[in-house]
Parts: sequence; C-alpha cells; structure tokens
Amino acid sequence: MSSPTDLPSHVRAIVDEIENEIGEDPSSIGATIEGAGRHPGNGKVEAAVHQILVEIGEDPDRQGLEGTPERVHRMYTELTAGYHVDPERLINGAIFDVAYSEMVIVKDIPFYSLCEHHLLPFFGTAAVAYIPRGRVIGLSKIPRIVEMYARRLQVQERLTQQIAEFVQERLEPQGVGVVIEATHLCAVMRGVRKPGTIMTTSSVLGLFRTRDRTRAEFLDHLARPAPGA
Ligand SMILES: [Zn+2]
Repeated sequence: MSSPTDLPSHVRAIVDEIENEIGEDPSSIGATIEGAGRHPGNGKVEAAVHQILVEIGEDPDRQGLEGTPERVHRMYTELTAGYHVDPERLINGAIFDVAYSEMVIVKDIPFYSLCEHHLLPFFGTAAVAYIPRGRVIGLSKIPRIVEMYARRLQVQERLTQQIAEFVQERLEPQGVGVVIEATHLCAVMRGVRKPGTIMTTSSVLGLFRTRDRTRAEFLDHLARPAPGA
C-alpha cells in the first residue's frame, strides 16, 4: 500500500471522501475526479494499455484513442482507491456506547466494484445489519465501509464477507448480517447473455447465524420496500 502522501491527487480525493464525513471537509467533496494533468507514474500502465489496443486491432494513434492509455490508468487507480483507505480515519471516533440491543439495518446501499477475474464492473446494492452489544457506529459510516471494500478488485463473495467481518471486529456486536445483490457485466456482456441476472450473496455472523428468528427478521426487513419507494 502506498503511504497517503504518494497518492495522485485524484485518488487522494476519493480516499478522503470515503474516510471523511460528507460536509466534514468540503474541499475534498466532488473533487476533481476527472482532473487535468498527467497521471504520475512510470508509464508502464499506459504502455500496457497501448499494447492491448494494438493487439485488438486498433490504431492507438487515432484521435479518439490518443489519451486512452492515460485515462485508463487514471480510472483504474480511482476504481481501486479503496486499497488506500485507512479504516481508523474512516471510523474516526464514530463508535458510541448505547444501551440499544435491537437490530440496526442500513439497506439499499449502492456500490460499484470490479470483478477481479475480468476487470469488469459488478454493481448493485448492499444491506448491512447488526445487533449491538452496547456499541453502535454512526449510520453514515456503513456505506463508507461498503465503499472501502468495493473500490478494489473483488469477488462478490469476499466483498460480502469483508464488510461483515469489519463490522464484527470493530463493534463486537451480537451478530452481523450482510446481503449483496449485484449484476456482473462479465456475465451479462459475454457468453450467455442473460440481462437481469442478479447474484445474491450473504454473510451472517453471531446471532444472525445461530438464531433463526434473527435471520428471519433481517430477511423480512429486506423484503419490505423502503419508505417512499
Ligand atoms: Zn468477472
């Protein structure tokens, strides 16, 4: 992992946005994602993308493709910015002692990730639930946890597990449940074209694993449409 200082500014901006509360640091929000300037580095990614363009029979020098190797480099570093997020800064003291022991659920969290087998996007929504054991986390942190793990090369199963384990480790709750539903472009664009194919994964820990009633309550919440939806 790079240290925070040697990240290109457009990647730093995304990492900051995941680590910091919205509104906490206005300068970092909506920062130059498509910023100007060359992507710093040794040019190896650019050379590799250039070579791919040649190999698929394209002319890398034609106008539309001129800036493509550099744009692709920039894009991949942005889409994998989650590797550089510091979990401590993300949490940033937002764990609170509360005598609440009912289920907390955040659902319909949109995410975009890259499948590590094809480097193509998979995207959808995540639902994260836990039953506190005296400690809760600020609600706005949960989508950031999802983002931290989604902005990496992933498989959906691992993404689901990492989110659940992170909540488990940080909060030590009575249980955690995570469900992710996603569409994989590598599946819908190639081979068997089945648009609308959605893959569902889940990871359940603690009471969500051992107590049927808890799991049923969780699934029940997921089936219910969000207010106003
Ligand atoms: Zn794939």
